[in-house]
Amino acid sequence: MLELVDIRKQFANGDDVVVALNGVSLSIANNEFVAIMGSSGSGKSTLMNVLGCLDTPQSGQYFLDNQDIASLDDDTLSQIRNQKIGFIFQTFHLLPKLTALENILLPLRFSDEDSSANERAKELIDRVGLSHRMHHKPFEMSGGQRQRVAIARALINQPSVILADEPTGNLDSKTSNEIMQLLTELHQSGQTIVMVTHEEEIAEYAKRVILMKDGNIQSDQHG
Ligand code: ADP
Ligand code: MG
Repeated sequence: MLELVDIRKQFANGDDVVVALNGVSLSIANNEFVAIMGSSGSGKSTLMNVLGCLDTPQSGQYFLDNQDIASLDDDTLSQIRNQKIGFIFQTFHLLPKLTALENILLPLRFSDEDSSANERAKELIDRVGLSHRMHHKPFEMSGGQRQRVAIARALINQPSVILADEPTGNLDSKTSNEIMQLLTELHQSGQTIVMVTHEEEIAEYAKRVILMKDGNIQSDQHG
């Protein structure tokens, strides 16, 4: 469960101050599938960065699974982030020299690796439909396949939430729908997902749509 209370985030821009989040409060329960929409500059990425513990707000509170993020030191925060949050990006962010399987195992380098890790990675690669590409490197795979690998990597630590910033932004519409089908299946099996998109058709896969405007939540609709 994710809970933001009156989050304010601003950036210095020369002599100006840009308010990216202007007192945002938001609760996302376990097993929700949320889309965040809004025009460019409305604060979507900043909101995702705060949710992903990649950026700290100037004021307000963030509780991740009831833990106050501000109370954690940097090491604990990295650990929590690694264990509880799975990230998916528009440009996949796979390491080019590693195979699909090695990319999926990467987040375990920073947590307690156990002998079952390889088995779990193989189960995940099977779950995203890429068993036959296990030992391939990113350049040998299509965009959709790379995003599947990234999704499997995001799942390896059984995170509380998957944060996806425009996960279909670099994919054609057929592949986008396949990726959204996969995210829908994950949601149906209990995964919490928060996704930024600017495409209506993609947002329709979510069960709740939050519209950002000028650093505020303009609307929040449960479908
Ligand atoms: P969105 O993802 O909806 O396009 P962002 O969250 O990236 O919006 O940005 C919100 C506002 O904050 C914009 O005006 C943007 O220019 C500003 N902003 C975001 N990140 C920074 C930064 N690191 N430095 C300065 N301004 C920033
Ligand atoms: Mg953005």
